[in-house]
Amino acid sequence: MGGTFDPIHHGHLVAASEVASVFDLDEVVFVPTGQPWQKADKDVTAAEHRYLMTVVATASNPSFTVSRVDIERPGPTFTIDTLRDLKVQRPDAQLFFITGADAMSQILTWKNAEELWSLAHFIGVTRPGHELNGGGRDVSLLEVPAMAISSTDCRRRVGEDKPVWYLVPDGVVQYIAKHRLYRRVGDLEAGMA
Ligand code: ATP
Ligand code: MG
Repeated sequence: MGGTFDPIHHGHLVAASEVASVFDLDEVVFVPTGQPWQKADKDVTAAEHRYLMTVVATASNPSFTVSRVDIERPGPTFTIDTLRDLKVQRPDAQLFFITGADAMSQILTWKNAEELWSLAHFIGVTRPGHELNGGGRDVSLLEVPAMAISSTDCRRRVGEDKPVWYLVPDGVVQYIAKHRLYRRVGDLEAGMA
């Protein structure tokens, strides 16, 4: 499951759990992106923080693991590289790539899309209120019975001093507080955060 995970939240975890159940998966590998090319113009939290929050969030589930392939590869993250690297590490595995239906519609437009289909079966998950569209491709689409949680909303809430308890796992709430992530820039400059 690829994502920015800035931060990882219960929407991601419910989606992973649901897909694992429906497709009878042995393992879900969470792959935090390096520098996401789709979000290159926005500020994204340091990869190491996003990776560690993902580890904290998934630690208690024996079939959830976290991969560093995307954060250790220099340059922007492309899903084709993610899949090639995972395939090298797990040559006998049948790979499924889980992503949000929003990211899926971007992937569908890529010019090397054909190789992507040969490496993995694509599963697009969507949160309530987002349209399901497979672009006519052979992808699976699944509406996840999750809450309408987004990382953007979690970051905004932290910046506004609102709680994110129960939107993200407890350990992630504590990690965010410990490292003072998502504080407003003005607060940081004023030494208030
Ligand atoms: P942001 O708000 O920063 O875009 P996000 O909440 O969409 O973050 P990503 O890290 O971009 O989180 O998520 C990875 C994938 O998981 C995305 O493709 C996204 O569509 C999907 N996803 C995110 N939140 C949910 C949710 N609540 N239910 C189902 N899928 C989700
Ligand atoms: Mg998103």
